[in-house]
This record gives sequence, structure tokens and C-alpha cells, in this order.
Amino acid sequence: MVQHDVVIVGAGLAGQSAALAAMRGGVKDVALVSKVHPVRSHSGAAQGGIAAALGNSDPGDTTESHEFDTIKGGDYLVDQDAATIMTESAPDMVYELEHMGVVFSRTADGKIAQRPFGGHAYPRACYAADRTGHALLHGLFEQVMKRRVRIYSEWYMVSLILNDHRAVGVVVMNIDTGEIDVIRGKAIMFATGGYGRAFRITTNAFASTGDGLIAAYRAGIPVEDVEFVQFHPTGLYRHGILASEGARGEGAYLINGKGERFMEKYAPERMELAPRDIVARAEQTEIDEGHGGEDGGAVYLDLRHLGRERIMERLPQIRELARDFLGLDMIENPIPIQPTAHYSMGGVPTNRDGQVVYDEKNTPIDGFFAAGEGACVSVHGANRLGTNSLLEATVYGNRTGRTIARYIKEGYQSANTDPAVFTDALKKATAYVERMRSMDGPESIGDIRTELKDVMMDKCGVYRVESELTELTGDLRDLRARFDNAKLTDKGKRFNTELLEAMELDHLLELSEAIALGALQRKESRGGHARTDYPDRDDKNFLQHTLAYRNEDGTPSLKYKPVVITKYEPKERTY
Ligand SMILES: Cc1cc2nc3c(=O)[nH]c(=O)nc-3n(C[C@H](O)[C@H](O)[C@H](O)COP(=O)(O)OP(=O)(O)OC[C@H]3O[C@@H](n4cnc5c(N)ncnc54)[C@H](O)[C@@H]3O)c2cc1C
Repeated sequence: MVQHDVVIVGAGLAGQSAALAAMRGGVKDVALVSKVHPVRSHSGAAQGGIAAALGNSDPGDTTESHEFDTIKGGDYLVDQDAATIMTESAPDMVYELEHMGVVFSRTADGKIAQRPFGGHAYPRACYAADRTGHALLHGLFEQVMKRRVRIYSEWYMVSLILNDHRAVGVVVMNIDTGEIDVIRGKAIMFATGGYGRAFRITTNAFASTGDGLIAAYRAGIPVEDVEFVQFHPTGLYRHGILASEGARGEGAYLINGKGERFMEKYAPERMELAPRDIVARAEQTEIDEGHGGEDGGAVYLDLRHLGRERIMERLPQIRELARDFLGLDMIENPIPIQPTAHYSMGGVPTNRDGQVVYDEKNTPIDGFFAAGEGACVSVHGANRLGTNSLLEATVYGNRTGRTIARYIKEGYQSANTDPAVFTDALKKATAYVERMRSMDGPESIGDIRTELKDVMMDKCGVYRVESELTELTGDLRDLRARFDNAKLTDKGKRFNTELLEAMELDHLLELSEAIALGALQRKESRGGHARTDYPDRDDKNFLQHTLAYRNEDGTPSLKYKPVVITKYEPKERTY
């Protein structure tokens, strides 16, 4: 067993920001655990930008405007106090990142350049061409290395150890050797990212499998609002790979199979720059009504009028991606695209200080913290605006790191945990891993994963309806039964990726049940959750966050908690 003051699981922007903030706050012994090398975290794939009301492109911009756009964009399910903190902190955050060495694209007069993004009233996306996440993550990682944060790279967190409502450690597996051990901590933080991999078409990295949510869920903590999944309007057709909203920010059009700019019908004012939920639904409607292109399942992103120079300067990466995956050059051709699962609005519930909370009254769990996409402080509510999540990961990562530093200095009382708690947790996790490794039934893990992604995409996608969601619940039970009869061919210890994938599938299967039940019970349409049988938002019954708790048998049951409304009463949402 090893021990650190602070153990952070997840080394994307949220985890790294927290590690740095905790160290700046005086904590000396911080460990970062990551199943992939830190700079391979999904944050590094972010393309379009990070939001902050700097006013460099339009001096009229204000943090209040950013705050309002965020709340309206989230269809009023946003906890408004949390959104206020995020948007007010944004300008300082971006300057701080710049001072750390992050290279942003510039305006002609040398300021940080800003481009328009969906749902934002002003151009406020600060960017590094279309490789913003890469620039941010590498900038932060230099600081993390300089400060000598202890890094467990390619270590897999298997479970969370709670004792008496207090987090005291995690069980981890060294992927290289297969060795399983306990890491004890005075404070434990999860920054484990999203769960987009539950869907067939997704922009998400292979690692985005909701591990942190499930580790918390299995320890008795609920997951919040997991039925809210954002479908991004522009995934490369059939691949799901992202073509950044930055393309539309730069002026690209969306056209259907008949060559019409169809957004006229759905968001006449904001057109292509309406929020993502609205644009994704518009595309899906065009496709469903037979106006799609290719074999009917695609619409097109058209950049031709932007010209070669602008595309090469501002959007070089997505041009390359389209050439590599579709064999098409966006300088000359419209690109077939479709909605793709992109962002997980749901996560482990936290308060504004990054403490994990576990009930309707937001009671914190001692020593347990979370931030980033795998957490739900609910700044995005029912639909995240583009560029707000790099912002959330850095602002709330930072803020949580500071809370942790205060906790270690002032709030922490020696846990005196009975050593049996750790040996029991280790035994349980080892038995779990061994059970997975020794699976020897007739079913194939690969087939089950493919079918899971298919049913989630087809029955819990852009549009949802009761009959399909009910069917989905049955499908998920069947898949679970088949999973229990699956086979692992690699029985080895070293770098057993088949074993990791089996555990990740186990997580996604369990989380999908919570997603499906949340979607089934939420009999309204709000943000990213669109029910064709309940097309309207229902504030009377559903202006509430969903909390899904795990029953003994692994099935979920739901409770609800109120949304924090400070300034803006819910209104009809038009663009
Ligand atoms: C293609 C793409 C483009 C995007 N573009 C933008 C954009 O332009 N602007 C914007 O604001 N947002 C964008 N987003 C969203 C944004 O990038 C993410 O929401 C954000 O970076 C998440 O950061 P994070 O630190 O919470 O998680 P991640 O960066 O996903 O990191 C998760 C970490 O957890 C670790 N981990 C997970 N499970 C385990 C486990 N079991 N054991 C050990 N470690 C584990 C991983 O190794 C990783 O280090 C984009 C997302 C995608 C997919």
C-alpha cells in the first residue's frame, strides 16, 4: 500500500488543474493516477476553443452575458450559482493559462483571438487554431512536471474506498504488470471524464467509459443527470470523429441532401450557430424526413466559401481529418456529417467547491472531490454550450484543488482507518478483476459492446420515445446476462487490454441502465433530452436534477433534487 496526501484520478485538464492548484495551496504530496499517459487524456482532443468574455473581438461582451447564455443554453437546468462562478472566473483563467505558456491564436493587434460559437451572443471562444485542447493540456503538463507531481501513468483505478462516509483511498491496477494495490489518500479526487463511449457514433476517446461515475455509484454515491448526453451536430459521417463547431464559428454552412441551408427553418436568427441540441435535432429531422444525403443518413458541412487560406490557418486539423477518414478535401467539397455523441452533462454530483455530495440536500462526503466532465456541478444543465467545458474543467479543477489544499491544511482530521478497510477493499477488487479475467463463457465481449452501442444510439439518441426506451431497458438486461456469460481469451497479467475493455464494458452497461431509466422517467423535452412523446419542457414536474442510486442488484433507482435558481427564471428558449 502506498500513501499520498492527495490522490487525483484522471490527468486531463480537470485533474491537472487541480493538482497544480493543490500544490500552489501548499500541499506537497500530490499524486495523479491515469489509465492513459496524461497528455493522451481526451482533453487533448478538444478543438474549437475555451470561452471567456475578454471582449477582444467585440468590446460589448460581458461576464453577465456569458452567464445568461450558459443558463439559457442549458435549458434552465443549470445551477445558476455555479454558472456565475465559472463565467466570472473565465477571463482570469484564460490569462493564467496564457501566462503558464499556452499559445493562443492572435488578432492582428496581438490580442488573444476570439471566434463565435453556438449559443454565445458574442465571439468569446479563445482558441489555438483547431487544436485548443492540445495546447492547453501540454501547457499544463509542463507545469505538472516542473512541480514534480507524482504520476501513476497507465494505472487503472478499479474502485473507490469509502469508510464511514469518508473517502480514504482507491484500489488501482498497474496496467503494465497487472499488480493490484491500494493508494491511500487524505483527499481523493475524481477527474475521470465522460461516458460517450456508450454510443455507436461518438467523438470520444476510447478511455471515455465513465469509470469514475461507476466507482462512485458502486460505493453508494448517486450519479446526477446522466440521461443528458450531448449530440454534436458535426461528426464525420459514419465515423463520428469531430469536425469542430469552430468551422461554423468561422462561417461554415449546413446543407441538406437537396442543397438547402435548412437551419432557416429551425433557428432563423442564429442559424448554424444555434446551440448544439437544436442543431443536432434539426439535422436528425432532415434525415428522418428524407432530406438527407449520401444514403440518406447524412447532411453536409460546407466550408468552400471560406477559402483555402482561412481554412488552412484556422481549421487545419479538421481538414486533415476529413481527408484521412472521408477522402474529401473541405476546400473543394462539402463534407457529409451526422450527429455524434459528444459530451456527458451528467456526472458525480458536487457542490461549488468540488466536494462530492450524495443526497437531495447536497450533503458532502468527507475527503471526496470531483471536477470536469465526469462531475456534475451542473454549469451545463441540460445542454452544454461549446467552449464551456474546457472552461469548466480548468475553473472547477482549479477551484477543487484549492478546496483540497484548505481541507488538508485545516479540515482534515486523521482518519485512523482500520487497516481491515483497506485489506477488504483490496480483496474485493482483486476478486472482481480475477472474476473478469477468468470469464470463460460462450459470449463475445466485442459483440456485446457493439450491440450496447447500437441500442444506445438507436433507442436513446437525439430523439427518444417511451416505447423504445422501455425496449432498451430490456435490451440492457439481456446484454448484462450475456456479459455474465462472456469469455476473455487473454488470461495474462501484462498489458491485458482485453481485461481493461471488459471492465470498461461492465461500467458502460451499468451506467447505460441509469441513462435509460433517467430518460424514460423524464417525461419532457429539455436541452439534450428530446422526447417525441413529450415534446415540451415541463418545469412543473421536471425542473429538477435526476439522482440515480444503485440498488444491491446493480439496477438503478431515481430521486430528484431542486435546481439552484438565483437570477434568471426559466423562460421559453428560442434562437
Ligand atoms: C473531440 C472533442 C473535442 C472537444 N472540443 C472541445 C472544445 O473545443 N471546447 C470545449 O470546451 N470542450 C471541448 N470538448 C470537451 C472537453 O474536451 C472535455 O469535456 C474536457 O476536456 C474533459 O476534461 P476532463 O479533465 O474532465 O477529462 P478527460 O480529459 O477526459 O480526462 C479523463 C482522465 O481520467 C483518466 N481516467 C478515466 N478513467 C480512469 C480509470 N479507471 N483509472 C485511471 N484513470 C482514469 C483518463 O486516463 C484521463 O486522464 C471536446 C471533446 C471532444 C471529445
